[in-house]
Amino acid sequence: MANNGESQQNQVGRHQEVGHKSLLQSDDLYQYILETSVYPTEPESMKELRELTAKHPWNIMTTSADEGQFLSMLLKLINAKNTMEIGVYTGYSLLATALALPEDGKILAMDINRENYELGLPVIQKAGVAHKIDFREGPAMPLLDQLIEDEKNHGSFDFIFVDADKDNYLNYHKRLIELVKVGGVIGYDNTLWNGTVVAPPDAPLRKYVRYYRDFVLELNKALPADPRIEICMLPVGDGVTLCRRIK
Ligand code: SAM
Ligand code: CA
Repeated sequence: MANNGESQQNQVGRHQEVGHKSLLQSDDLYQYILETSVYPTEPESMKELRELTAKHPWNIMTTSADEGQFLSMLLKLINAKNTMEIGVYTGYSLLATALALPEDGKILAMDINRENYELGLPVIQKAGVAHKIDFREGPAMPLLDQLIEDEKNHGSFDFIFVDADKDNYLNYHKRLIELVKVGGVIGYDNTLWNGTVVAPPDAPLRKYVRYYRDFVLELNKALPADPRIEICMLPVGDGVTLCRRIK
């Protein structure tokens, strides 16, 4: 093990890791998790998509490899079959989901940007799981309203991953709670917002970080007060809050 000084030096270098969103006490510890548990078991296609995404200018948005592994495990544990994803980007969490679902599993995937989805699509096709994906280009809200209109969609989703516009999470929640089945799970991503949920009011934050932080804080207050769900907030990636619908 490196001594403290060395460890701090390593940390500077290791912050280069794409998708580095760890809130762990040291970067070395995060690297340890990646190297001992995540990378050795990461499917080849996910590695390829991760490396392709790393070259994209907005790569900060990607789901980290440890969170991809977590999602995959969760989906298998709950035997998810019918799922939804809001916020696809190049598709790392989407591919993790598609690989974890059974052959006849489904993902209704939404994003306002088709171009980025299409960057990753050849990798998803090569992995043989593209048939599970129904991609819809456009803002999620009208599509959710459309889904709600049809009774047969109520309580029909086993799992929903929300990773898009944070200022709409509570609006999404109002709709998703109808669409997820009792016993199903909604995962809200980035609920620790790079640790800024505990930043003092005068902390120097970038404008967009400060803007979305207020919505994340509001969500984090509202979810534990919702009697229709049980929640669990995990410090995986940038924080993910799992909500299990109980009524
Ligand atoms: N889950 C993705 C992954 O694993 O790489 C990351 C998603 S990224 C953090 C957020 C995505 O949400 C962007 O691709 C953006 O285009 C999309 N987005 C933003 N506003 C949206 C909206 N109103 N409806 C649907 N998608 C939206
Ligand atoms: Ca995210």
